[in-house]
Amino acid sequence: MKKGKKLYEGKAKILYASPEKNLAIQHFKDDATAFNNQKKAIIEGKGILNNRISEHIFSNLNQIGIKNHLIKRINMREQLVKIVEIIPIEFVIRNIATGSLTKRLGIEEGTVLDYPLIEYCLKNDDLGDPLVSREHILSFNWMNVMELELINEQCKRINDFLQGMFRGVGIKLVDFKIEFGRSSQDNNIILADEISPDTCRLWDSTTEKKLDKDIFRKDLGNLLEGYQEVARRLNILHEQSNIRPIKFPKPKAVKIKKK
Ligand code: UDP
Repeated sequence: MKKGKKLYEGKAKILYASPEKNLAIQHFKDDATAFNNQKKAIIEGKGILNNRISEHIFSNLNQIGIKNHLIKRINMREQLVKIVEIIPIEFVIRNIATGSLTKRLGIEEGTVLDYPLIEYCLKNDDLGDPLVSREHILSFNWMNVMELELINEQCKRINDFLQGMFRGVGIKLVDFKIEFGRSSQDNNIILADEISPDTCRLWDSTTEKKLDKDIFRKDLGNLLEGYQEVARRLNILHEQSNIRPIKFPKPKAVKIKKK
């Protein structure tokens, strides 16, 4: 499919116009970023794995009635998606306390939460994606009450489904981030963006070995091997046989400045 002009470029993906009305081509890059762009690398093959894993998750979600932007994957790095107007809120769903939650509130690392916790962050890199409340969302008209309720319900359903899917292959879904957008075509709010090891925390159920972007954030080893392991367990790795495992230097300790 012929790509049109670049519509938008983010940290890990590029959106191009497509020949089809209301549809765009979502291209997955190999760029890895963390700590609001302060740490960067290019990890050859990451985009291919994320494209495939995200396709797998979005098409499964579609089958259980979670409407989303995916039309189809068109090649190793690209998907055809519906054009949406992204709602400027990142929805973070947590099952186990880690990351910013533990830093912010002093909750002990690894605490299993009694109920999934939904947090809202404003999508604004200049401000460092600050946490916002339900009242902020309503007050500044980022969404109305009905839309927010609908998305909260969807977040819980998506979490239930993904937790089960990953649990079945020996992975704990610790937390994840999702985004939604308004689709003029559907006259509705639908799930958009991606769901991949870039946007989830995934721990091996037995060893708690990290299989997600924390490998890059915390220099824990070979990121690609973690992502390949996720794809392999989901039984979708066969098409990735041409991705070479990359040998990284031995992990070294990194000092991370406290915010
Ligand atoms: N997350 C993401 N993009 C962001 C921020 C967070 O995909 O811009 C994901 C992250 O991978 C994790 C979850 O959201 O699965 C919760 O992240 P947290 O707030 O703990 O982020 P941290 O500041 O620790 O990276």
